Amino acid sequence: MRIVFANSAWVSAAERLILRGGGWQSVRLRVRYGLIFHPAAGPVLIDTGYTPEALLGERRGRMLRLYSALLKPQLNVDEQVLPVLRRFGLSLDDIRAVVVTHFHADHISGLSLFRNARFIASDAAWARVKARSSRQNLRHGVFTELFPADFDARLDGISAKPRVAAHGDTPGGADLFGDGSVIAVDLPGHADGQFGLLFNGLDRPLLYAVDVQWLLSALIEKRTPGFPATLIAEDAAAIEPTSAMLRRFLAAGGEVMLCHDPAPTPYDLAPEAA
Ligand SMILES: [Zn+2]
Repeated sequence: MRIVFANSAWVSAAERLILRGGGWQSVRLRVRYGLIFHPAAGPVLIDTGYTPEALLGERRGRMLRLYSALLKPQLNVDEQVLPVLRRFGLSLDDIRAVVVTHFHADHISGLSLFRNARFIASDAAWARVKARSSRQNLRHGVFTELFPADFDARLDGISAKPRVAAHGDTPGGADLFGDGSVIAVDLPGHADGQFGLLFNGLDRPLLYAVDVQWLLSALIEKRTPGFPATLIAEDAAAIEPTSAMLRRFLAAGGEVMLCHDPAPTPYDLAPEAA
């Protein structure tokens, strides 16, 4: 099964905000999303990255406008979903499933582009989004205007998927396609309902751990940032135990990838030859 990641945008942050003991200099972070080619489910997207909908869309509320003005993500035009799918001879309508790891803007921004897709996501977290007012959702970092109007009808919740048990230092979770190839692993801490994806069938098992940390060095060197990062976390106390689980997986020979770490990985798309 082929797995690729693209970089939808660049976002800058002072290192000390995302790495305990870091400096004031700014770090240029990626905003990755993934594309897997599953033998039965076909091309499946993992999140959407930032798309113009979150940064320029007419439907944006006042808070989403403010958020993008503060964060100033720079869209990476060449690696937006449409041109990336084109590189593989695909169109937006060929995507029949999008895995949504959590509901932050840089993961759901482009969901409305995919008219034929079901959304594989945490139905428990979605139930909480529906139960909250839009102001309460903002406090959880969820901009509800980014969800397609029929998100609920197209939701394919992970709670109904068969469970795979943990073995040794390999975590268990929900078997998304019923063949053990992609396991949704709960990653509490950063956002309500966040899960990562474990690809077990590779020579070296890969866990895409999304936003457990912004930087791999924060994970590996146990440098989880303190305030104000803890303020925006859904459950700050859960970040360390989740990070420790990832360190055990690494120590046992696994590979961990994050959404925002700036260093290129073997799974990142090579820049297209001009
Ligand atoms: Zn996030």
